[in-house]
Amino acid sequence: MTENKVALKNFTEDELKDFLKSIGEKTFRGSQIFTWLYKGAKTFDDMNNIPKSLREKLEKVSYIGNLKTKLVLKSKVDKTKKYLFLLDDDNIIETVMMEYEDRVTVCISNQVGCRMGCKFCASTIDGLIRHLEPWEILDQILKIQEDTNKRVSNLVLMGSGEPLDNFENTKKFLKLVNDKNGLNIGYRHITLSTCGVVPKMYELADLQIPINLALSLHSPFDEERVKIMPVAKAYKVNDIIDACKYYIKKTNRRVTFEYSLIKGVNDSPKEAEEIVRLLKGMLCHVNLIPINKVEERDFERPDKTFIYKFRDILEKNKIPATVRISMGSDIGGACGQLRRKHK
Ligand code: SAH
Repeated sequence: MTENKVALKNFTEDELKDFLKSIGEKTFRGSQIFTWLYKGAKTFDDMNNIPKSLREKLEKVSYIGNLKTKLVLKSKVDKTKKYLFLLDDDNIIETVMMEYEDRVTVCISNQVGCRMGCKFCASTIDGLIRHLEPWEILDQILKIQEDTNKRVSNLVLMGSGEPLDNFENTKKFLKLVNDKNGLNIGYRHITLSTCGVVPKMYELADLQIPINLALSLHSPFDEERVKIMPVAKAYKVNDIIDACKYYIKKTNRRVTFEYSLIKGVNDSPKEAEEIVRLLKGMLCHVNLIPINKVEERDFERPDKTFIYKFRDILEKNKIPATVRISMGSDIGGACGQLRRKHK
């Protein structure tokens, strides 16, 4: 039972030292325990340089926090792996690992489900179940490193959930994952993706931590965007672009615009031309992602000619754009679909 106990993996090393002090122990024990957390200790008894009396004391007031690996699927077409993790309350989350020649990137989930309601996305079908705690976000990376014996170098917060809707826990997670004695993943190697929760975008910019921002645009027209992204009722495209410009000013980081191309919905030259008008002169990049088919949804990918025509309009007008082909297409589909199958 974890009720009324604190999760030790929610602490930075300094916080863990303070915690040990608060229960009447020496602070160096905090550093020892911190090391164990990142060495993969599953129980307090694994911590063999910690006296038994302290292990028993810790057991009463705290828990380590370990996700259980329920399933690992390996792609045959590329080096992608998908993980399903079981949480203590039996909820399931999905994490993806992508291996490239020079880096290992993990796509992590932030919430169980999502309440943003994007019409093409599988994660949002049953709404938001709950936020993930910082350690539950962090442990996805730890478990994958343990499983693969590889160091995760890059992170994308592009799994299930809206990070800016779980902002406090996301901020804490970013601090944990960047900890020099912890996973030590550089902010410049982290990308946070949002559907455009404008006030939180400003708050994120004001933190001035140099993570990359990705913005899910999917249409440059408010009246069209709102049909596929209910969040567009609250935040207009112009306000989102202003927030992106503020982000660039504060952090000096390039903003990536995600654009999922859907046949007959947002894939015509009209949209491409409006994107050019909106983004001209901005430090940005556009990722064009032909939509991944979700069983429960009725959207299709545009034909190749439409996709490349769209890209050419952007490029000709000096908006850098790349067509992204999704990885791991043979292992349970993209964007939260694997989790749904196992619920
Ligand atoms: N909530 C955040 C991050 C999670 S989704 C956000 O909205 O940005 C990560 C990206 O995948 C977003 O750009 C999202 O719009 C996109 N996406 C979701 N379902 C998709 C699908 N079926 N096909 C293609 N992209 C999808």
